[in-house]
Amino acid sequence: MAVLVFAENAGGIYKKAALEAVLYGRMVAEKLGTETVVVTYGNADTDALIRHGADRILVEKNEKLEHVDPQAYSKMILKARERSDANVLVFSFNYTGKSVAPLVAAKLQAGYVPGVVEMPSTDGDFVVKKIVFSGKAFAFYKIESDIKVLALNPNSFQLEEKLGKGAVEEFDAGLSDTDFKIKVRKVEKVEGEIPLEEAEIVVSGGRGLKGPENWGMIEELARLLGGATACSRPVADAGWRPHHEHVGQTGGTIRPNLYIAIGISGAIQHLAGVNQSKTIVVINKDPEAPFFKHADYCIVGDAFEVVPKLIEALKEFKEKN
Ligand SMILES: Cc1cc2nc3c(=O)[nH]c(=O)nc-3n(C[C@H](O)[C@H](O)[C@H](O)COP(=O)(O)OP(=O)(O)OC[C@H]3O[C@@H](n4cnc5c(N)ncnc54)[C@H](O)[C@@H]3O)c2cc1C
Repeated sequence: MAVLVFAENAGGIYKKAALEAVLYGRMVAEKLGTETVVVTYGNADTDALIRHGADRILVEKNEKLEHVDPQAYSKMILKARERSDANVLVFSFNYTGKSVAPLVAAKLQAGYVPGVVEMPSTDGDFVVKKIVFSGKAFAFYKIESDIKVLALNPNSFQLEEKLGKGAVEEFDAGLSDTDFKIKVRKVEKVEGEIPLEEAEIVVSGGRGLKGPENWGMIEELARLLGGATACSRPVADAGWRPHHEHVGQTGGTIRPNLYIAIGISGAIQHLAGVNQSKTIVVINKDPEAPFFKHADYCIVGDAFEVVPKLIEALKEFKEKN
């Protein structure tokens, strides 16, 4: 018996969501009185995994795993499960986890709960809490199968360090070329930006900004605050902004210290991705905009007047300090 966590990395580096999954797996393992095994790949920063609770780390060295391939990943994880004899499997509920966890659960005929937000209750029944109706409610799911698969909602709890035993083992999942179903032809990396899921400050724009040509002020405000930019779904659908910036039910889930929503109405599907933010500032010219009901600070006004004034004030403040 063990808890097995899949930890995704990019060039060996682990993002916050992967470390959250490891820490969560560790906390579940402690509750069940067992060990935390992490399965990962490539030239991994195993120290980061150990600091967040990994007792054992299985590292598969196949270079092709550097690119996300749900079928190859699921085969590797299934092999790691055999080796660790895990009965609880933990994934992050991010883009990769959303495609890999269901494949693994289906192969194992295991109960699968996506979007978990809290520790399971394990007194008798194994019950997990998850968000439903785009964050408007919670549901408690009892998993009845022997093997349980959980996908943890990113930013659901505070990341902290918890030292694991940290035995690192090279691991051969027996992958052959035919296990890889995707061929990556080109990778375009965005350099220099703060990854949205990791940013403590996020400046986000919606359809109220009228067009992509008006994003200069959003980017400038984000830069001055040391934050990242995000957007509502219609903005990404229209091609005004890249899809990785779209937050909400069908996009990313974030939990920054400060979320500034500019020209965004506050539809339930948008709120689902941002309503865990610590402080929410809404700038909207419509005093009846639904977003104001969820805001800590409300600015009723035209974004094209308010945002340049904010930028000006910030620049002035920075010059003086
Ligand atoms: C299944 C499903 C999933 C979805 N998933 C998502 C999702 O993940 N993320 C998401 O964002 N949406 C999602 N949506 C879409 C969602 O329902 C809304 O349509 C969308 O969030 C609205 O985007 P918006 O607020 O940018 O645009 P609008 O609703 O058009 O709102 C624009 C806002 O800007 C304000 N405004 C206009 N001009 C100005 C100005 N000059 N200054 C200040 N304010 C101004 C307006 O008052 C208005 O409140 C989903 C919908 C469905 C059906």
